[in-house]
Amino acid sequence: MKRIAVLTSGGDAPGMNAAIRAVVRSAFASGLEVFGVRRGYLGLLEGDFLSLGPRDVANILQRGGTILLTARSQEFLTEEGRAKAASHLREARIDGLVAIGGDGTYRGALALVEEQGIPVVGVPGTIDNDLWGTDFTIGFDTAVNTALGAIDRIRDTAASHERVFFIEVMGRQTGFIALEVGVAGGAEVIVLPEVPTTPEACAQVILDSASKGKRSSIVVVAEGAYPGGTSALAEAVRRVGGFDGRVTVLGHIQRGGSPTARDRVLASRLGAGAVEALTGGRGGVAVGVIAGEIAEVPLKEVVGRRKDIHRRLVELARILSI
Ligand code: ATP
Repeated sequence: MKRIAVLTSGGDAPGMNAAIRAVVRSAFASGLEVFGVRRGYLGLLEGDFLSLGPRDVANILQRGGTILLTARSQEFLTEEGRAKAASHLREARIDGLVAIGGDGTYRGALALVEEQGIPVVGVPGTIDNDLWGTDFTIGFDTAVNTALGAIDRIRDTAASHERVFFIEVMGRQTGFIALEVGVAGGAEVIVLPEVPTTPEACAQVILDSASKGKRSSIVVVAEGAYPGGTSALAEAVRRVGGFDGRVTVLGHIQRGGSPTARDRVLASRLGAGAVEALTGGRGGVAVGVIAGEIAEVPLKEVVGRRKDIHRRLVELARILSI
């Protein structure tokens, strides 16, 4: 293996730059040439490559987003599209690819491996933490801390005005961010897609809290946890509980910002781990961290598998919010 490429794909996540830097520098240390692909699989389809040396990735470790840009590509969803992408890699004499992204990115990587025989290694880069084969994804810790900062601020106003706040956090169809933020922020209620609840149950917890002397409540809601969204949930709770709740949707602020130390270290380890997998001839895996150690799991096993939230943490949140 002489030349490898690296791309970021799907939603951007803080720490992707740290992962790019780690790929470039650890590959350089192993005597490899590295190319960056702009705009994920879209750039692969257009042959949009740039040579990256150790100095080209200076001063990006602390920056959110991705210097390689990211995009979603419809054409890459087709076999013809992927054949075209693979031909660009072959023309550039690139022997292996590191794909940093989420579940969709991994599906694309697996298709490149199986259909085109290109060695691809997946690196988990998504704030959602919803990937199998790693305890944590790059960007999750930063997103949690960003959301937590916002919740702490909202708590101040909720307490001062003795109000109920419904705060929606990201996570698509999973509740990883909501659970972590809910526990760390001392939420009275955490609404997760994995643990179905009703407006009645929600209202009851808030009313019980009030009867125990709590004068304000925070309800953390994972996006996708309630049909119709968080405003619909707040409205339904108002109807059954008879009290008003303010709704705040944190949205994209959770995606941006400087990565936490934890995300930078994770990204550095995983970026280097991906290069090690490629140089070791182990294309077709995703790298991750399991119980503190770097692990390689076949992409085939990772794709389509759903990681469950920490059920005991759900129970603990309930106990601690009394
Ligand atoms: P995030 O979880 O942050 O949204 P993601 O990697 O899941 O990241 P997607 O938009 O789902 O983001 O996927 C990124 C890209 O991967 C898509 O634009 C598409 O080009 C490619 N991709 C997704 N699913 C497949 C698939 N089944 N087969 C081939 N390629 C795919």
